[in-house]
Amino acid sequence: MRAMLNLYNTLTRRRDAFEPLEPGIVKLYTCGPTVYNVAHLGNFRAYIFEDILRRTLEYRGYRVVQVMNLTDVDDKTIRGAIAAGISLDAFTQQFKDAFFEDLKTLRIKPAEHYPAATAHIPDMIALIERLIERNHAYVADDDSVYFNIASYPAYGRLARLDLSSLQPGTRVAHDEYAKDNVADFALWKAWDADDGDVAWDSPWGRGRPGWHIECSAMCMRYLGETFDIHTGGIDNIFPHHEDEIAQSEAATGKPLARYWLHCAHLIIDGQKMSKSLGNFHTLRDIVAMGFRGREIRYLLASAHYRQTLNFTFDALHAVRSALDRIDTFRQRLQQVAGGITVSQETALPDWAQNTAAKFDQAICDDLNTAAAYGALFETIHEGNRLMDGGRVSDRDAAAVLTMFDRWDRVLAIMTPDADATTVNGAEDPVIAGLLEQRQAARQGKNFKESDRIRDLLRDKGWIVRDTPAGQELKRAHITSDRHSLDGSIACAQ
Ligand SMILES: [Zn+2]
Repeated sequence: MRAMLNLYNTLTRRRDAFEPLEPGIVKLYTCGPTVYNVAHLGNFRAYIFEDILRRTLEYRGYRVVQVMNLTDVDDKTIRGAIAAGISLDAFTQQFKDAFFEDLKTLRIKPAEHYPAATAHIPDMIALIERLIERNHAYVADDDSVYFNIASYPAYGRLARLDLSSLQPGTRVAHDEYAKDNVADFALWKAWDADDGDVAWDSPWGRGRPGWHIECSAMCMRYLGETFDIHTGGIDNIFPHHEDEIAQSEAATGKPLARYWLHCAHLIIDGQKMSKSLGNFHTLRDIVAMGFRGREIRYLLASAHYRQTLNFTFDALHAVRSALDRIDTFRQRLQQVAGGITVSQETALPDWAQNTAAKFDQAICDDLNTAAAYGALFETIHEGNRLMDGGRVSDRDAAAVLTMFDRWDRVLAIMTPDADATTVNGAEDPVIAGLLEQRQAARQGKNFKESDRIRDLLRDKGWIVRDTPAGQELKRAHITSDRHSLDGSIACAQ
């Protein structure tokens, strides 16, 4: 008997039984990164939740068509490109490359499509034209186009907004705004000096799309006007997803997505991650400290996705022993199995049937990974006890190994990392950029600057040495002096 897959739907505020529109296929849209910097741990928590969702759907026998957009034009990317003094394309490309490397480090399965916003401007313009035709959008005095919230009574349904105090006709031009600032939002922004040389032609003059219309245009382009699941972080509920629903449904008259799933925040040592607190970590920072992608993935998936996850270095150290237990148990099973392999259909021993059912229930209960880990360790505990007494047959051991392989299609944590170095320093754009800056400083005899960059690299986990052949980069190893008395690691600033 198989458990029914239930998913908590932000739209209905309850766990809904999942049924795709089309039998056997799930169309999934996951809001992707804004490529203006290297993604941080909180971002990756959401991408791992989406990966577990995708893998669970596949585990249930569905074929998944996943689209993850790359926001490569918005307020933040334009600001970043101008500050760096390079083109928007060159600025965002380095972070796109870094993002795909990081996905690999964390064993996140690739989506079927990664549409970039800049490659879909005509789709966005067409959608805005449709909204203007249907009187849901208007061109303002400055030639920007705004969505008319008053024209769409369902506005606020996802975020459960109280719109009683809404002032018709007030406008907000920025991509991000708060709930107390609900107003007509920009679909198309007329060029202004803040945009530098970033602009496209449109029926309303030169300009660029707003962030929200990008996702509407790209999800409908690849998945149709109504699809199954739309996900993101809880930060996305308002205004991003509220606006996406309004624009899309006002244009088509059809529901956009049937299930809306949102991942909770990640906090670090009990506090919000922020640059000023010095607890802002990218995946690369953590890998540079000597931790593996597998370990970070395990920790980021260890809490249920709708619970706030508290990331601590103590917990990350504890993951090592958890993974050791898994590895040792699997090795022990392999010894007992003695080379026998069995199919998925082979009956499990009684003691594993119980935990097999628990695992399936856990993962089908709104992707409860914490309970799935519980079922995994219960199996290990019971299996070890029985193997100690010599009471596990070769066939039973093989059947449990096969079950672990099946579970790992969802969890992707059981096989050790293939290589010791998951992020190569020279391929990391941030590290490579620092090396270039340091070389330029040395050529200009600016040794103070060159020393400053050397220290910065050390903080990021890399030792740079000057040799006759140039700079040589080596990974710094975690040593006990990086542990403070309470066991946490002193982190890079
Ligand atoms: Zn989005």
